[in-house]
Amino acid sequence: MNTPSKKPATLPAYFQRRMNMENLLASRRVLQLVYEQGPLTQAEAARALKLSQGACNLHFQRLEYEGLVYGQRLQPEGRGRPRFRWELSRAQNATIGLVFDPPHLFVQLEDFAGQKALTLEANLKSCRTPAEIAEKVSASVTRALAVAQERSLLVREVYAALPGVLDTLTGAVRRAVNFPALDGLDVQELLQTKFKLSAHANSLGVAYYYGEAAEIPANQTALVIYWDLGLGLVFGRNRQLLTLQGGDARGRMLSELGHISIAADGPRCRCGQRGCLEAYAGGWVLLQRFVKYGVQTLEDLTQLAATGKPGVDAAIRELTHLLGLHLAGALQMFGVTVVRVTGPLAPVFARGQAAFVDGLAAVIGAERAASLFVAVSHDVSDRLLRGATRAARHAYIYPEEFARLSRVSSTLQGQHLAGG
Ligand SMILES: [Zn+2]
Repeated sequence: MNTPSKKPATLPAYFQRRMNMENLLASRRVLQLVYEQGPLTQAEAARALKLSQGACNLHFQRLEYEGLVYGQRLQPEGRGRPRFRWELSRAQNATIGLVFDPPHLFVQLEDFAGQKALTLEANLKSCRTPAEIAEKVSASVTRALAVAQERSLLVREVYAALPGVLDTLTGAVRRAVNFPALDGLDVQELLQTKFKLSAHANSLGVAYYYGEAAEIPANQTALVIYWDLGLGLVFGRNRQLLTLQGGDARGRMLSELGHISIAADGPRCRCGQRGCLEAYAGGWVLLQRFVKYGVQTLEDLTQLAATGKPGVDAAIRELTHLLGLHLAGALQMFGVTVVRVTGPLAPVFARGQAAFVDGLAAVIGAERAASLFVAVSHDVSDRLLRGATRAARHAYIYPEEFARLSRVSSTLQGQHLAGG
């Protein structure tokens, strides 16, 4: 088995002169290359990055010192310096994902190889204020850090996935429609100041996307629809979220498509506008619509859908057809080839999947619609948690991309609420 080489106690003095040890930036490209294509030799890295082998060697040694990579010694070719094949230290590095799914908080610790080290759940039901929630978060994170320490895992990054409307810059919750105790909660700040952790707080949509990303083939552009109490949309390609900066100062994302207005005089949406797509198809609307069947929760709704009652089935097909009609333009614009549907209402979508494709076909033509790969996700909550730890891993390896994301989106869902 590959065992990591021992971490050198100190770096040679010449490192201090030749490298900025304060941040990882200079070595980041080498780290990204190992993450994407490792294991590789320094000659291969030098070729790929158009750097000298000497420079690559410095970066590898530095990354090894930081505990991020390890070198396996290769058989020497005649005389000369030893050669190494460098690999990411997947089993030594970890991230934590927090998923706020009121009234539950899920916390997962996972290493870079995708091995779960801990999953725990806290109930927030009794919490009335963000301070009370912060205490529960602290207790859970403390526990996760203790497990990380026991297992000699280095926690590199935390991703907190939150519902509701979030502050553009900080990820603090501005308004959580369905769980007001979250209002004002700033998880990123809590993790940074109290635990000195590198952390990002952003929407559930990011975690949903990374939960699906492993299933999306390379170089395919995907739309991930997450259907819960609201209706969220995330576009991504090659494990990167695609964002589109719009005309307003907050830099809207196209992902707020759930709130495009499809009828000026349509029903009132919870965002205040009329006729949003979400006002027809959001989970909160469906709960009202199917209340006559005794439906109170999203779970009741999936159970009702599973019965296949003709009236219910027809209503579901009508909804998914509507989604197809109104998402077709965005699919064309982004060149989407893969659609994945997730969230607690994914099983409901499955019953109307054919009608969704029909809706698309009405706009983009049957051939193009049929060429799309549409799939409904399973193990939705498990994927969401994994998605949060993977979003954290991605944020650690590609920090500039995540910095851009947090500038661009306050939330992927219902963002224009932010001003109101
Ligand atoms: Zn709306």
